[in-house]
This record gives sequence, structure tokens and C-alpha cells, in this order.
Amino acid sequence: MPEEPMAEELDESPYPNVTVCPRCGGQMEELAVEGVALERCRSCRGLWFDAGELEKVLALSPQPAIDEKRRARSPMEESGPKLQCPRCGGQLIKMHHLRNPQVTLDGCMVCYGTWLDAGDLAELQSPRWLDRARDLLQGIFG
Ligand SMILES: [Zn+2]
Ligand SMILES: [Zn+2]
Repeated sequence: MPEEPMAEELDESPYPNVTVCPRCGGQMEELAVEGVALERCRSCRGLWFDAGELEKVLALSPQPAIDEKRRARSPMEESGPKLQCPRCGGQLIKMHHLRNPQVTLDGCMVCYGTWLDAGDLAELQSPRWLDRARDLLQGIFG
């Protein structure tokens, strides 16, 4: 019986580790959440998720509080130049998450990583509009 290769446990990403924040250029630090390794910016507290990691983290419930409160953003951040992918150097594209279309995130079409600004993850984890929709329906149908 052949031995199982151990390499599967290793990070086989062809891209270098994320060390520089795509938003503010700050230093990224590694953050482990329930076995998922994320990167968080020490300065602006934004979070980087590699392909599939965001879905993994969103599937965990209840959530460890890894996200910061939403902070005020400058118009530069909302409509400024496109960010560069901190993982592969590709261009990040603004998109909306199906779970909460009010949240704008920056996704990479090359390595499928996702950038979330501080507060966006919390918004995705407990979308307030869902609660509002539920209240509204209960108001109508009792
Ligand atoms: Zn930053
Ligand atoms: Zn990328």
C-alpha cells in the first residue's frame, strides 16, 4: 500500500503570500479562523480571502468576532481606482455578494481571491436587510 503524500496539507497556491494591503499598503498579518487562514491588514483592518475561503467562513456559525465595526469611508475608497490583487497582481473587480447585495467587495478574476473592507464581513454574516425583510413580512402576514 503506497504511502499517502503529505503535500496535500501544504499550501499549494502558486502565488506568493499576501503581505501588503491592497487598500492602504499596510502590513498584512495572518489570522486563523476555524482552520481557515485569512490575512488581515494591521492598519485598515480589511480582510483578504483566498478562493473559497469567504464561503467557508460565512458557513461557520456562530461567527468568531474577527471583523471590526464598519468605519466611515472616503469617496476615494468607494469610487477610487481599482485595487490590485495582493495575491497574484491581477486587477480586482467591484462586485456584490449574493448574500447581501449592499456589500461591495473586490474580487480577483485570476486567483478568485476576495478583498473585504473592515465591516463588510460582519455585514455579510448578519445582513440587516434580512432582518428588516423578515420584520416587514411578519408585519404583513402577522
Ligand atoms: Zn490596509
Ligand atoms: Zn488574484
